[in-house]
Amino acid sequence: MSASPEGRVTDAIVEANARYAAAFTDPGLEARPARKVAVVTCMDARIDVPAALGLALGDHHTMRNAGGVITDDVIRSLAISQRALGTRSVVVVHHTGCGMLTITEDFRHELQAESGQRPSWSVEAFKDLDDEVRQSINRLRRSPFLPYTDDIRGFVFDVATGRLREVAA
Ligand SMILES: [Zn+2]
Repeated sequence: MSASPEGRVTDAIVEANARYAAAFTDPGLEARPARKVAVVTCMDARIDVPAALGLALGDHHTMRNAGGVITDDVIRSLAISQRALGTRSVVVVHHTGCGMLTITEDFRHELQAESGQRPSWSVEAFKDLDDEVRQSINRLRRSPFLPYTDDIRGFVFDVATGRLREVAA
């Protein structure tokens, strides 16, 4: 694969980190999140989690994937977050304009047709944001691996206004 005329983004990242590290001073943060909260959200490039939620470096854990869906791997991370690193609350944030609203399970069949291998994971596509938020909350509450499920709240983030709308569980 050839580099674009501006050069590879990966090269720019390496250079940016050199500048970052040159000015870096150890903030002395604990690994345990200060605000004891984990945020599960989509990988979407338009969601600035700390800015949108008023969180700072060291405050929270963030688990992101396509759609912000509650997969086994999100449960794995949350179990470690709660049991080993002291978080007590979970915030689930889905968003308007999510790519998972337009993709379908056909994606999995396409991958299988192209690669000759059947993905072990499901696409986790969804059609309704509010339903998906409710399902996510229910999956978390039902998990036998999460000891703290009293403070789990779900929201839809509007990428055009920056506003969070809570979805009643
Ligand atoms: Zn998304």
